[in-house]
Amino acid sequence: MKILMVTSEAVPYAKTGGLADMVSALSICLAKLGHDVRIVIPRYYSIDRSNFKLLPDAMGTPMGEGVEEWSAVYETDMPGTDKKNPVKVYFIDHEIFFGRDGIYGNPTETDFIDNSRRFIFFCRASFQLCRKLEWYPDVLHAHDWPAAVAPVYLKFAERLPGIKSKFSNTVSLLTIHNLGYQGIYHKDNFDYAGLGWDVFYNAGFEDWSMLNMLKAGLYSADKINTVSPNYAEETKTNEHGFRLDGVLRYRNADYCGILNGIDTTVWNPSKDTYIPENYSVKNLEGKAKAKEALQKEFGLPRDPNVPVIGIVTRLTDQKGVGELFGPTYGSVWSICRDMDLQMVLLGSGEQWCESEIAGLSSRLSNFKAKIGYSEKISHLIEAGSDFFLMPSRYEPCGLNQMYSLVYGTLPIVRSTGGLVDTVENFNEKTGEGTGFMFDLLDPSSIYNTVGWAVWAWYNRREDIEKMRIRGMTQDFSWEKSAEKYIELYKATQKAQGIK
Ligand code: ADP
Repeated sequence: MKILMVTSEAVPYAKTGGLADMVSALSICLAKLGHDVRIVIPRYYSIDRSNFKLLPDAMGTPMGEGVEEWSAVYETDMPGTDKKNPVKVYFIDHEIFFGRDGIYGNPTETDFIDNSRRFIFFCRASFQLCRKLEWYPDVLHAHDWPAAVAPVYLKFAERLPGIKSKFSNTVSLLTIHNLGYQGIYHKDNFDYAGLGWDVFYNAGFEDWSMLNMLKAGLYSADKINTVSPNYAEETKTNEHGFRLDGVLRYRNADYCGILNGIDTTVWNPSKDTYIPENYSVKNLEGKAKAKEALQKEFGLPRDPNVPVIGIVTRLTDQKGVGELFGPTYGSVWSICRDMDLQMVLLGSGEQWCESEIAGLSSRLSNFKAKIGYSEKISHLIEAGSDFFLMPSRYEPCGLNQMYSLVYGTLPIVRSTGGLVDTVENFNEKTGEGTGFMFDLLDPSSIYNTVGWAVWAWYNRREDIEKMRIRGMTQDFSWEKSAEKYIELYKATQKAQGIK
């Protein structure tokens, strides 16, 4: 199959969250299965293009308002793919839209004022790219709101019924990685899309007189999915639907959940190059070494007997940071004050949270934090911790709990979204399970569940060791999920009467 991934993020080029990991890992896996996979992504200012191939001739993209946008196109092979069938990555290099620091915003302008135009243009440019390459995909696979207008262009401009076009046999899939971000902007921006105002209503852009890019994609894509079966169900409810639950119920027959895999070439304790010594279920000595290195890295006393709780997260409300660090309210203060444990955190995000964390780590001797982004330290935390805390408000899939499981680190999670599909709660009677779960998101539930895990550490060590092994032997590889995407692509073609 010829598959075009339309995305605003892909590792190693641009990443703010799990979307970037998913797009690249899935693409690499699909290419390994023999498919022709290409990724199109904006060339942000931070992406070094010196090693990319510049394609001849600038590319013109006709937009609304009589504008034609000109961009350069760069090409490269994604690292880590088979040379015989590489994943090709194309960068749309448009200086005014993408020649600035930040993907969606920067510290002073957190959501760029022209984001709707930037990404509407990017979606349209994806079709121009296909023309330029004379390569037309069987499947256009768009990801999240920045790419959500691509399925709209397919349905309302490029694949019109009764009109033969190069895209007549292309079907579209839109994957929701996070329903909380929808790309809602003033509707005045719609003229720029170059689609008639009838499309504004028919494609579902209209949202209380605003322009909602994700909503239009959800209406217009041939099929839609999200990144775990449980989150697919939750998003159809008022509680988790972010006002789009009605649309998702309306599209129920075309909507499903496929659990993300993890990149087992990068996240694998027996191959990990960031940790002091590799380990596996057969020999866990390397995990003890990682714990020692982690304690050293964070300036904590080296003690194999005290449980270490790790956190790696974006510091944003979605991740339950209010319940962890909220002034006078958060649970971390009392957890660290009352319990015999060590806690380490790596993260960056909301300013208030970063300063609370700095305050806490200066007052608590067993809580240490690094503010920032570091692949190396995130690997060390996954390997060296005994427990991993993830009290998410909502979690479409979540990668960190899967990393934790395969590194023998027991997740302590709220039972929401993909966390329910991947973690099994500890059963004190049978000793079964792979982690510790709670329902209600409030500081005392976090406090109690961390307390439960710490109790098990000191009193049920045999169960803890068995849970570690159970987690480490689970298969979260992309192969399994990639097969499901192929099935979904085929079902989409069938539903559209193609093949
Ligand atoms: P989300 O995409 O909502 O942030 P996921 O758990 O799906 O949550 O994926 C988060 C990814 O980002 C993981 O790979 C995680 O390790 C990584 N990550 C988040 N914050 C940091 C950080 N400060 N340093 C390194 N990696 C981070």
